[in-house]
Amino acid sequence: MYHYRMKTQVLVLGSGAAGCSAALTLADRGLEVLLVCAGDELTDGNSALAQGGIVYTSPEDSPKLLERDILTCGWKHNHLAAVRFLARKGPEVVKDLLIDRLEVPFERQDNGEHHLTKEGGHSLPRILHCADSTGFSIMERMVQTVKNHPGIKVLTHRTAVDLLTSHHHASLLEYRYNLVNQCLGAYVLNEVAGVVETILADYTILATGGVGQIYLHTTNTRACVGSALAMAYRCGARYMNMEFIQFHPTALFHRAERRFLISEAMRGEGARLVDAKGTPFMQRYDSRADLAPRDIVTRAIMEELLKTGEDCVYLDAANHVPDVARRFPGITKQCSVIGIDITRQPIPVVPAAHYSCGGVLVDIHGRTTVDRLYAVGECSCTGLHGANRMASTSLLECVVWGVSAGSYIGTRIGNKPKLLRKLTDSIPDWITPGQDRNEDPALLQQDWSTIKSTMWNYVGINRTASRLKRAFADLRDLNVHLHDFYLETSLSKPMVDLFHGCQAAYIITLAAMRNTRSLGCHYRVN
Ligand SMILES: Cc1cc2nc3c(=O)[nH]c(=O)nc-3n(C[C@H](O)[C@H](O)[C@H](O)COP(=O)(O)OP(=O)(O)OC[C@H]3O[C@@H](n4cnc5c(N)ncnc54)[C@H](O)[C@@H]3O)c2cc1C
Repeated sequence: MYHYRMKTQVLVLGSGAAGCSAALTLADRGLEVLLVCAGDELTDGNSALAQGGIVYTSPEDSPKLLERDILTCGWKHNHLAAVRFLARKGPEVVKDLLIDRLEVPFERQDNGEHHLTKEGGHSLPRILHCADSTGFSIMERMVQTVKNHPGIKVLTHRTAVDLLTSHHHASLLEYRYNLVNQCLGAYVLNEVAGVVETILADYTILATGGVGQIYLHTTNTRACVGSALAMAYRCGARYMNMEFIQFHPTALFHRAERRFLISEAMRGEGARLVDAKGTPFMQRYDSRADLAPRDIVTRAIMEELLKTGEDCVYLDAANHVPDVARRFPGITKQCSVIGIDITRQPIPVVPAAHYSCGGVLVDIHGRTTVDRLYAVGECSCTGLHGANRMASTSLLECVVWGVSAGSYIGTRIGNKPKLLRKLTDSIPDWITPGQDRNEDPALLQQDWSTIKSTMWNYVGINRTASRLKRAFADLRDLNVHLHDFYLETSLSKPMVDLFHGCQAAYIITLAAMRNTRSLGCHYRVN
């Protein structure tokens, strides 16, 4: 018989670097873990796309120096405790988990020492990498270990629809009157069976990644529609810093649903941004020129584009990066697909939505403001990035907080009572609100295109009060329409993604409207 109702100790929603790190830490401590992901592969998120690398350390480096660089990039809007936690814990977690346990093949020099590279905002080389496909190499090892771990059950093709909470779902009144709202798991759509499963859990970890797909131009995978943010918002968890969406300055200029990223490491190795005539321009905008932080480089490119009326600027690696094809084989191959030989020609680039610095508010253990609910990775806001993320700190944040949340839940599960049976029994199974099969692809496509162009044009790189006001009104109306649509239509993955994407867009717009001060990647023209 098919089981619509399951129970586990820990439910992890999302299988990127953050979700997998948490799952491994929990399972190593003997806990029963259920890891679910929306795609057909555990690698369908952004983690496998990371090119540049992950912050480590060097003999010349120190936690103080790393802290200083992160705070400078984050415009000192960071949470100091989170920055210190990462600067202190980071190298230890990378060594224990990635180097020693997973044996990720980070590049080494002839003398056997790791090859460390430098990116924008870093005051010295401290970034480990596997050529230009670091995320892929990390995820390859992580996923293999997760799949082979006897303590982790993996379910693919599962999209989380809603978080289960005592305030919203328990039918026993005593839990609704209780001031503490507890998370009890999630309703999850099984795409293959076409049913919504009730997964009850003592602890739930959100690890569903970023929001890039709500923008017209993005480097993110299809999985990144802001589900965690939408679900956490609906259950009353606090979120923070959602106006700080980082745009990557250099995405390959071509037609594709997802823009291929031209890693910042390429500028770290010497590549220069030039205009259509081949003239470098970054030194006119910042004394750090091509290695200025991302928000500064992004706005400089937008200004050049406005000034020249061109569609893109160019990244000249051919004249500045020795042996570029060997150092960046992935980028070389991808560019050659569209006819660009990067050893001889400049690469056409434009900015694209890349990273969400904010998310569901958490402490250093990944705890949210809802009891038994945790969040790790890009969907969370640890406060590490402040108003702007420094390159290659996000993968590190995923593993540091993944391990921290896993360890904390591990100690807590021994001390805190399990969810009471009468509480979990009082959670009903999903009731399909409507049976209409009116999921018209034209409607879905039109709604997505409204969300994406509204976010790109009105809540994008340069924001004005009137643009934000207009976006807010449009998205508020669309949310109402979608809510009605949701109530009439039987559930499907495209519907859930659209619903989550629209709510995430609304939340970001509201945050951008409320913050009238330009800071980091939130840039108000007025
Ligand atoms: C092109 C690119 C290059 C990058 N390069 C770097 C770099 O060099 N260094 C660096 O530090 N950072 C880099 N980043 C950022 C970094 O990759 C991400 O911030 C990080 O990988 C996010 O990991 P995550 O585990 O939080 O989420 P992801 O890896 O995105 O995983 C999200 C998971 O959630 C699942 N999911 C989503 N919605 C649902 C749902 N409703 N129900 C169930 N599952 C769901 C997905 O299926 C997926 O498994 C890059 C990002 C991009 C896009």
